[in-house]
Amino acid sequence: MAQTDLARLVMQRIDALAQISEESGKLTRTFASPAMKRANELVGSWMREAGMSVRTDAVGNLIGHYPAATPDGKILLLGSHLDTVRDAGKFDGPLGVLIAIACIQQLNETKTRLPFAIEVVGFADEEGVRYQSTYLGSRALAGTFNLEDLKRTDARGVAMADAIREFGGNPEGIAGAKMDANRLLGYAEVHIEQGPVLEQKNLAVGVVSAIAGQTRARVIFIGQAGHAGTVPMNLRKDALAAAAEFVLAVESLAQNRGGLVATVGEITASPGASNVIPGEARLSLDVRHPDDAVRVKATGELNQRAEEIAVERSIALKWEVVHDTPATVCDRRLTLLLENAVKRHQKEAPLLASGAGHDAAAMSAACPVAMLFVRCKGGISHNPAESASEADVRVAIAVMNDFIRESGKTN
Ligand SMILES: [Zn+2]
Repeated sequence: MAQTDLARLVMQRIDALAQISEESGKLTRTFASPAMKRANELVGSWMREAGMSVRTDAVGNLIGHYPAATPDGKILLLGSHLDTVRDAGKFDGPLGVLIAIACIQQLNETKTRLPFAIEVVGFADEEGVRYQSTYLGSRALAGTFNLEDLKRTDARGVAMADAIREFGGNPEGIAGAKMDANRLLGYAEVHIEQGPVLEQKNLAVGVVSAIAGQTRARVIFIGQAGHAGTVPMNLRKDALAAAAEFVLAVESLAQNRGGLVATVGEITASPGASNVIPGEARLSLDVRHPDDAVRVKATGELNQRAEEIAVERSIALKWEVVHDTPATVCDRRLTLLLENAVKRHQKEAPLLASGAGHDAAAMSAACPVAMLFVRCKGGISHNPAESASEADVRVAIAVMNDFIRESGKTN
């Protein structure tokens, strides 16, 4: 089958998979849900068509195996996730799985066996919507799954261990789902860019240099609630005004530091009435940078700025770091192979840092990782308007075909 047809096939499959949802009228597919089970069945059937044997592991990852020319060959892992956010776009996750299957289909149709096996993984949970715990699938394969997470409950009170059992998985077997790191050549993931850089450069694909590390903090300014009509301005302890000052400080610091992104995405004021001075303001802070040192320094400066604002206004501050992940640097050798492959199919191979987290970040605990980004319209993702073109998918398939053939050579 020619590559043109494979790109079209991927687009058709993206549409078919987008029909599998747990909410009518929108695409929502969360971990261990009946919709995930149907998605795994459909994608599993495509894996079989492409010449792979298919299994589902203890946590619910779908894994297709394409054998090596010799039985003792190592394994190259390809893939991405099949779960989605709520009211999702159809490319985030599935694109990487379906492009990988298309590449295997091409190998199978040309009766090509490589000196290594290839496994395509459809990860069970990357977005973490159901249990607010990301990378359940890739952590299980990498051997970094936190078994304590099995006790977490979803919004309906269903414990994760029960959800996995209901799905047909085996919570007791998750430790055993870990792949043997000695057999892994590496993990490569294709994903939509989720940003505007490739569109600006007018390029179909780009190579990821690193996945940004991330700090999330909960910040609380505690002032004093009071009557909006009677407390004079100079005697107020307005927590929301302090928070407003902090939000602008966050924006200004990030604007003046290359590659840093910092966001206050949530803010609540209490008691929350039009005639009451806010006594308390809670906000979320999200800070990301591909270089951990830059992120840690910026977070420290923002903490200090929040303290200064609180002191100036004679109010109290609480600062709690709730999430802290280091950056993942993509593997030099695999990344170079991807760059060389990209240069054969478009005029340049731009290197991009990923601001979003990916399964590749979790897989880096087990093996070298590399990522290819595909241009997406307007840089939009986590939104039904998410879009990638068939022409760009065609380039991505061609790049991955080259990459796969090269990746087993000289370590
Ligand atoms: Zn994704």
